[in-house]
Amino acid sequence: MALKKCKECGKEISSDADKCPNCGKPQKKRNALGYFVAIIIIIGFIGWITSTLENTNSTTTQTAIEDLPKLAFYKSQEYMRGYLKGPAGADFPYYDSASVKRVAGDGKGTMFEVTSYVDSQNSFGAKIRTTYKCSIVRVHADSSWVMAELKAW
Ligand SMILES: [Zn+2]
Repeated sequence: MALKKCKECGKEISSDADKCPNCGKPQKKRNALGYFVAIIIIIGFIGWITSTLENTNSTTTQTAIEDLPKLAFYKSQEYMRGYLKGPAGADFPYYDSASVKRVAGDGKGTMFEVTSYVDSQNSFGAKIRTTYKCSIVRVHADSSWVMAELKAW
């Protein structure tokens, strides 16, 4: 027989007592079924959290893989912007999957070749179209991008 403290008066009483012999406060008893139900609920909750996290992770990874050509496309536009004389007026096209080619790849990185164009102002203020080809490598270790080659004409 174990002893516990009455929540009402603080006196030590038997854990089997239905009522406190001192103040008469009814005592709650934890029974085995109550513990069992609580454990089932906790296990169910942990399982739910785990599966939710796994779903989130796989969705994120999938999106990242699918978006690599798109990221390469916009990254090439960044490099082109740096190359142009009047980058403020540069007019780039929207993403088109046909203009990105996956050239090579392994566990460390993937190389993409972007062939696209940009409309921008030359030094006389006239809009001209520049076609470019940009080879860029996505480094998987730190998700960074490295430009390998940029040709514009
Ligand atoms: Zn009491």
